[in-house]
Amino acid sequence: MTIVVYPGSFNPITNGHRDIVERALRLFDRVVVAIGTSADKDPASFLSGRISLCRQALAEFGDRVEVEGFNNLLVDYVRSKGTRFVVRGLRTMSDFDYEFQMIEMNQTLDSDMEYVLLPTSRQWSFLSSTRVREIAGLGGDISEFVHPAVVEHFSKL
Ligand code: ADP
Repeated sequence: MTIVVYPGSFNPITNGHRDIVERALRLFDRVVVAIGTSADKDPASFLSGRISLCRQALAEFGDRVEVEGFNNLLVDYVRSKGTRFVVRGLRTMSDFDYEFQMIEMNQTLDSDMEYVLLPTSRQWSFLSSTRVREIAGLGGDISEFVHPAVVEHFSKL
């Protein structure tokens, strides 16, 4: 069985992230969505909220998708999941620069890791979690960009 880890902030999960999960499932048997944390920036409550929204947004994929938080080195985490494959999504050339830097760093730490960069559907190429938070914070309608569970979450804030 082939497993790939999809790491990110997912703050919150968007239809763009979902699109990458769906594409990754065409290449791998299972996708582990790994939500990164940083001890000083992310209180545990924020992480559990993000995990719960990801699980709801990806429920349609059943047990082919697992969602969990991680706070160790990505390469160590990926090994602990019994794989050496990482998937990331690409929207623009600036994403490419950022991803390439991350890959270079991680390849120095573990040269056996393989990275799969999947371009998103054109429909979501402008979409980011930051924009979603901004629009929701100003009372705008985000339903076109995220799962209904995420809409509901922001409507209660
Ligand atoms: P990070 O802070 O690690 O970049 P994100 O949650 O912002 O975490 O993104 C995780 C991954 O998902 C990254 O590879 C990013 O390029 C990708 N991604 C984010 N939004 C989209 C989108 N709209 N379409 C495709 N990929 C996306």
